[in-house]
Amino acid sequence: MPVRRVALLGATGSIGRQAIEIISSRAELELCAIMSGSQPIAALGLEHGVSHVQVGGSAVSLLDACEPDVVLNAIVGFAGVDATLWALENGVTLALANKESLVAAGELAVAAHRRGGGLLLPVDSEHSALFQCLEGRAPDSIESLVLTASGGPFRGRTTEELASVTIADALAHPTWSMGRKISVDSATLANKGLELIEAHWLFGVPYASIEVVVHPTSIVHSLVRFRDGALLAHLGTPDMRVPISFALGYPDRPAVATARLDLAQGLDLRFEAVDERTFPLLPLARAAGEQGGTAPCAYNAANEVAVEAFLDGRIGFLEIADTVAAALDQVDGSPARDLDDLVAADAEARSIAQRRLVPA
Ligand code: NAD
Ligand code: MG
Repeated sequence: MPVRRVALLGATGSIGRQAIEIISSRAELELCAIMSGSQPIAALGLEHGVSHVQVGGSAVSLLDACEPDVVLNAIVGFAGVDATLWALENGVTLALANKESLVAAGELAVAAHRRGGGLLLPVDSEHSALFQCLEGRAPDSIESLVLTASGGPFRGRTTEELASVTIADALAHPTWSMGRKISVDSATLANKGLELIEAHWLFGVPYASIEVVVHPTSIVHSLVRFRDGALLAHLGTPDMRVPISFALGYPDRPAVATARLDLAQGLDLRFEAVDERTFPLLPLARAAGEQGGTAPCAYNAANEVAVEAFLDGRIGFLEIADTVAAALDQVDGSPARDLDDLVAADAEARSIAQRRLVPA
């Protein structure tokens, strides 16, 4: 089997470290480049014999230089947009963990993907599950996609109770161990909002046909409803190495030493409705997605600013959703013709959110 050269962006993060573990254990995978945002990575480069190493800046020159077969985009936030568009435009396989780039750049990304003609393989566990349930199905046989949500650490809480939660409370995810930003997004359900928009762009399904349901044990990673009433689901223990391995090994599905579900022990497969009044960032994402244009970009940008402020202890938990709602009210959301327009829309929403956070 020919060696697959992987450019790993966000190499020092939660996804990045798990990806290195997988790549190091497979003869058919080779790291050709690594990148981080600010953490030093020279030592990591030496350890893995990687010559293309970069800290910060745009990923484009690194990607041009290293000639990857696969770009694993595990950068957090809008900062991942350059790499996503580079891979899609150049027809290089994109293993996408960085959901924010697809949310913000939706239309531009789909157009670049059409021109480039490469593979776009989701790493997000729900979307990896959907991708696998959808493979080879006729589009008109699909009734809806069903995204599962763990509900996060605050499932069952009231708005009043959420007013006083701490940073540590928000970071204590019940089923997944992840980076700080996505952990807070999981606590507010903004993560599920981003995933809703991500699913729309990945699979070309209208928002009205994408359901979200709470499933506290995270065993069912997502489901597809077909028009004959059948539901196909993807089950497994919550372990990101499975979708990372699936994307890097596609279509071979190599072995992963993850814990097996013990069916004879019985599975806890409870599902429940999302409490959208207590977690308004999910319905706000749906509204931004339906509005289209740069509304999803603004949603993402304001959320990034608010989450950072929450993690710095500058605002309370409930102000995250307030900030995003206020930013969405103030932007016009007109479509981006190109990356410059998108960067401008992102900057505008950030500055609206920042102004709201800094008392006059
Ligand atoms: P993390 O915070 O643990 O790591 C983020 C990585 O991005 C770090 O290596 C950091 O150096 C790098 N980075 C930050 N800013 C950068 C910049 N400007 N340029 C280049 N690199 C930059 O985050 P994570 O939990 O690994 O998540 C990464 C992405 O994967 C996010 O988009 C997240 O939503 C998505 N994701 C993560 C998980 C998970 O289990 N952690 C699951 C599904 C999806
Ligand atoms: Mg996910």
